[in-house]
Amino acid sequence: MKQVYLDTFGCQMNVADTDRMELLLFHSGYRRTQEKEDADLILVNTCSIREKAEQKTFSLFGSLKPLKLANPDLILGLTGCLGQQDGKKLLQRMPYLDFVMGPDQVDGVAHAVDKVRSNGKSFVWTGFDQEKTYSIPEFSLPKAPGASTFVNIIKGCDKFCSFCVVPYTRGREKSREPDELYREIRHLVEYGAKEIILLGQNVNSYGKRGLKNPIPFHELLYGVAQIPGVERLRFTTSHPNDFTRETIRAYQDIDILMNHLHLPVQSGNNEVLKAMRRDHTIEEYRELLFELKSKVPDICISTDIIVGFPGETGEAFEDTLRIMEEIGYSSSFIFSYSPRPGTPANELNDSIAEEIKKRRLQEAIALQSRLTSEIGQHYIGNNTEVLIEGRSSKPGYTFKGRNPQYWGANVQAGEKTLKAGDTVKVRVQSVSGHSLSGKATL
Ligand code: SF4
Repeated sequence: MKQVYLDTFGCQMNVADTDRMELLLFHSGYRRTQEKEDADLILVNTCSIREKAEQKTFSLFGSLKPLKLANPDLILGLTGCLGQQDGKKLLQRMPYLDFVMGPDQVDGVAHAVDKVRSNGKSFVWTGFDQEKTYSIPEFSLPKAPGASTFVNIIKGCDKFCSFCVVPYTRGREKSREPDELYREIRHLVEYGAKEIILLGQNVNSYGKRGLKNPIPFHELLYGVAQIPGVERLRFTTSHPNDFTRETIRAYQDIDILMNHLHLPVQSGNNEVLKAMRRDHTIEEYRELLFELKSKVPDICISTDIIVGFPGETGEAFEDTLRIMEEIGYSSSFIFSYSPRPGTPANELNDSIAEEIKKRRLQEAIALQSRLTSEIGQHYIGNNTEVLIEGRSSKPGYTFKGRNPQYWGANVQAGEKTLKAGDTVKVRVQSVSGHSLSGKATL
């Protein structure tokens, strides 16, 4: 068998795409290796959402170049969002690359590799087939899924937030047929999955495009919850404009729908939200979450925040800190704004000094640390249910997993025999960051 080395940058969608390429290549005779030096094929699945991710990609390819020069038979491929965004420019910048491919070409990865092997010519393969339905063939489903596993339900995004490259790199929204999703989930459960995380750039928009028999997102939740063997259900990521009252109802009705929601806010200020083209006000966002929290009291909310967006005044930044306090996020992904080529925000005057952006970033991170720590204290001395996902790297702890509110957990098994996929009650003894540590009790 030949060997493939795979590396991934970016979001869960990219991680899921890499897993899929691994399975598709397995059927073409490639086994995954963790050693670049042993590989016959190296694929880097890239991200272009932030400048930093791009820089990391170029630096990785710089380190791969000597391997290619030493072994011309080695195939080097760049896949994912940076491939879609920069296409030919990447071949010009890195002429030792064999091919560049976009996220919509994931299904054709084995074909791309065969093409290079047969004619030795480098090529770019990007673009979107709007006619093609979004479907994942059954033969490419994993036979050893994790206890917690992602299921892609929708790809692309129609929202066009002014700072974001996703609609340009992943194309317009397309959903997968519910029957196909139910089949996939039954398969995953049969092979050991306990927790299903429905995945998409905007899962709440599920069913609006690409389906012969459309159903709304909340109906999909009820459908998945009925599949025997699904012990936990989650979804990510959500958009406030498509998040419905029926979905709030689903949290109340479906026991296995875990009490966690990731709902990006990006900014707490209406002027900034308008410039970001988020199409909702901070009052609407707040009202939605207050309603959710009143009906599902022990829910934890996490979010995404951008600081230093063009036009963000000192007061506007204070509004972001205010909404963080009001909602009491359990965790946040907080970034300092960096313009992305091809996006509408790239045309705005990025006038906020780096020093100010940095200061705001640090302030928002410090606030989030305090909020996380305050919420975390409530777990100390109490029991929480943890789904074991694997071995812990924390000294003195055997297993790691997550609780319903999506806190990481390190578990001392004591006398208990545990394995991935078990759900265990853990008495929490300490909290560090967004992670709990404690002892298995039952
Ligand atoms: S909702 Fe906005 S931020 Fe999220 S993927 Fe779509 S365009 Fe990007």
